[in-house]
Amino acid sequence: MITVEEHLERILAQIEPGAGVVLPLAQAHGLVTTTDVVSRVELPRFDNSSMDGYAVRREDLRDVDAEHPRLLPVDGDIAAGDPGGQQLQPGHVWRIMTGAPIPAGADAVVRVEDTDGHVREAQFRVEPDEGANIRRAGEDVRPGDVVVRAGTRLAAPQLAALVSCGVTEVEVRPSARVVILSTGDELVPAGGEVGPGQIIDSNGPMLEALVREAGFFPVHVGHLPDDVGVTRKEIRRHLDTADAIITTGGVSKGAYDVVKEVLTGEGSMDFLEVAMQPGKPQGFGVLGKRKVPVFTLPGNPVSTLVSFEVFVRPALLKLVGRAESHREAKAYALEGWRTSADRETYTRVRLSRDPSGGYAAAPAGGSGSHLLGGLAAADALAVSGADDEEVEAGSEVRLVLLRPRAEIDGRLEAEERLLAEADEDGTA
Ligand code: AMP
Ligand code: MG
Repeated sequence: MITVEEHLERILAQIEPGAGVVLPLAQAHGLVTTTDVVSRVELPRFDNSSMDGYAVRREDLRDVDAEHPRLLPVDGDIAAGDPGGQQLQPGHVWRIMTGAPIPAGADAVVRVEDTDGHVREAQFRVEPDEGANIRRAGEDVRPGDVVVRAGTRLAAPQLAALVSCGVTEVEVRPSARVVILSTGDELVPAGGEVGPGQIIDSNGPMLEALVREAGFFPVHVGHLPDDVGVTRKEIRRHLDTADAIITTGGVSKGAYDVVKEVLTGEGSMDFLEVAMQPGKPQGFGVLGKRKVPVFTLPGNPVSTLVSFEVFVRPALLKLVGRAESHREAKAYALEGWRTSADRETYTRVRLSRDPSGGYAAAPAGGSGSHLLGGLAAADALAVSGADDEEVEAGSEVRLVLLRPRAEIDGRLEAEERLLAEADEDGTA
């Protein structure tokens, strides 16, 4: 048996981040840049007003204040979208709106609040500072400035900045197309008739959701029978197009463990036992000319889930150049539970709020890796070390969260509010 850490290291050592491709900006959301992205234009593109008000010459309003207001003639309106080019005559003003170009000769904008707001002749009650309420061309971005660094995952803020700079294409690492293959003669697809001895393929839809939620493209091709020929052909077929392949089932010691039989000796495939519970039988390697990473996960649903979180997720992130750590947290054990001696144990737990403000964790359902009911209630996996035989009530445990933390916190806050309301009703 090798440790979880060793297996993960071996996997990551074989994962090469994909090459960059140039994509239209609109298709690059969520992808990681492979080069610095530079602006060719300046932002703002022209001097413009940051307020609704009047474009003025400061010298025309010298010594003006509330006690000594001044009337000046208004030459017209400049609205946002106006092409500009107006000239401000000495002793005159232009009414101007936010985002509109500053007329030549103006050196400040007086806010409409500091005037009477009239359109032919306006009364001014302040003397503006030099450049007041003017956004200068280039004060934000200059031509040649790096707007987004290489290695940045493009989210809404970066897209807004790049689009404003007129950037239409970026070089990014493409997302990964992940082919998911469930194996097992006992499987029927979701919604199908379940005959004697059969079960519904839950790993397929589960992996599809995990892959999609992590920001990749899942391709769930359906399930394969425990047949050497079919399995070999199907895996080969996907090596031409997949960026990664995940199989489930058929890697333990049974007589029909076909995935292991088909892939043993292929590429860099390695089938081994990892000191973890659940998820002990694992296989990984890169296959074919394109060196496609292939993860062969054990079939029990909880084993599949744990294997995805521990091995597949970090590998897929590396493939697309995303720098993300595990969704980790800590909790206090609300009760004690037994763990597997000599293996790292991943216990499904449901979280609640500890009086200290942290999380409290209690096992969700039993520990069998086939138990789907408890899985539905789980917020996280509590990880205990290979040397531990139990987790004691009140001790601190490390968590791998199965949802974004904000989502778990949101639920706990809503529960607390309900409890508080029930309390108030009870004492009223
Ligand atoms: P295996 O790894 O093929 O020996 O499967 C281990 C256990 O997981 C067996 O009880 C299988 O029926 C179950 N199993 C395998 N594949 C799936 C799947 N796609 N969905 C649900 N259960 C599965
Ligand atoms: Mg099987």
